Amino acid sequence: MNVAIHPNVKFAKGNEFALNVATGVITYLSNEHKKRILELKDGESRIEPIDISLLSNEVLIIKNHLENHKINLESKISDYLNNAAAICIMPTEKCNFRCTYCYESFEKGKMGENTINSIIKYIQKNAKLYNFFNLSWFGGEPLLQYQIIKRISQEFRNQQLLNKFTGSISVTTNGSLLTEEVVRELSDVDINLIQISIDGPPEIHDKQRITYNQKGTYHTILANMEYALRNSNSHFTLRINLDTTNSNNYKAVADWLEEDISKRFQEFGTRVEIRVVSIWNATNTSIEGICIQDEERLIKYLRVKSILSKTNNQFLEQYAQEVSQIGSLACYAGKPNHYIVGSDGTLYKCTVALKLEDNILGFIKENGDLSIDETKEAKWTKLNSLTDPQCNKCSFSQSCMGIHCPLTRMQTNSQPCPTHKKFIDSILAFEPYAHSH
Ligand code: SF4
Ligand code: SF4
Repeated sequence: MNVAIHPNVKFAKGNEFALNVATGVITYLSNEHKKRILELKDGESRIEPIDISLLSNEVLIIKNHLENHKINLESKISDYLNNAAAICIMPTEKCNFRCTYCYESFEKGKMGENTINSIIKYIQKNAKLYNFFNLSWFGGEPLLQYQIIKRISQEFRNQQLLNKFTGSISVTTNGSLLTEEVVRELSDVDINLIQISIDGPPEIHDKQRITYNQKGTYHTILANMEYALRNSNSHFTLRINLDTTNSNNYKAVADWLEEDISKRFQEFGTRVEIRVVSIWNATNTSIEGICIQDEERLIKYLRVKSILSKTNNQFLEQYAQEVSQIGSLACYAGKPNHYIVGSDGTLYKCTVALKLEDNILGFIKENGDLSIDETKEAKWTKLNSLTDPQCNKCSFSQSCMGIHCPLTRMQTNSQPCPTHKKFIDSILAFEPYAHSH
């Protein structure tokens, strides 16, 4: 029986440890194991006693199992893509903020009665078809129309009870309108996740995330978020849009996270997740800069993240977890049965390029059916790790699925690999934990 290095395994510099990017298992290697890995990097070899623990941690694989491993992975990806649906609704495309990096045009206002009724019919028809069905709210600022959120979400929950699908409701909001009244009104529909952006301490946040009237928003948002945490069951993602081109910014944000935010939300435990995201140069027709970072910016980003994760080991574990979950790096725009509904009923795939012709798929009909240009839709959903040979043999196919950013794929005609893969060597060599073992 022959063994080989597992196709999903990546090694840190000097083979200090191995990470299986499909299982998230990190295996620190003894000197004997390192020697064995060096031998196997030259090709397969007969199984030896030293291989047993490496096989059980899936650092190695029995050569004859490789074909089965590939077939199982493909069927897992195919099930994931075909058994799930999601609808993301923009109840208004207007916003009370004018963030300095925002790419939206705020042209379309409140969703009309006809579109609301069509969406309710769409949910009723589709609820029985899928095991997983998610509803999300986006804008503009969706809470400007929280009554629409309440109405449609209520029907979603009714259908969930009837059809027993697994599904969650999430809202992406600037947080300024999450008042006592809104929290009370939305409590019946049980919002699972609320994503709010706070970009750093007041001196940074209030420069980037300003209201329509140029007012700062920091203190209102934090107070609203604390109120909602105490008076609902929702989980929160606190998104920090970090300007990684400015080295003073990332240091200030890192200190603020450590000294203020992590202490302030400590009592809420896992209900608050903090996510740092680099600000992209997105426009509404292209992705210049989106989803693609240069290495230097990445390292700054990692330094902020490492403070978040408190200890160096946890940082590596977080990365391992991020890359090993099925579909965790895949964008909804590349998944079948995932649609964005604009406030006028227009259907899109991507929430960024709202003016791009290929992204304007069609509209939702009065009876709840979707009128879709299938040629356009195929541009988003047909090229993935099941159909693109390069993605098919990639170790990140389970998490990325070749659809990390379908817009990047369309505009660059190449695989839209996530930062997690492109800079894996830098990530695994990231000095705090690379030197800690
Ligand atoms: S395709 Fe997805 S990842 Fe790419 S810009 Fe659009 S929403 Fe973002
Ligand atoms: S896009 Fe890149 S990372 Fe994603 S599956 Fe394809 S080759 Fe792998």
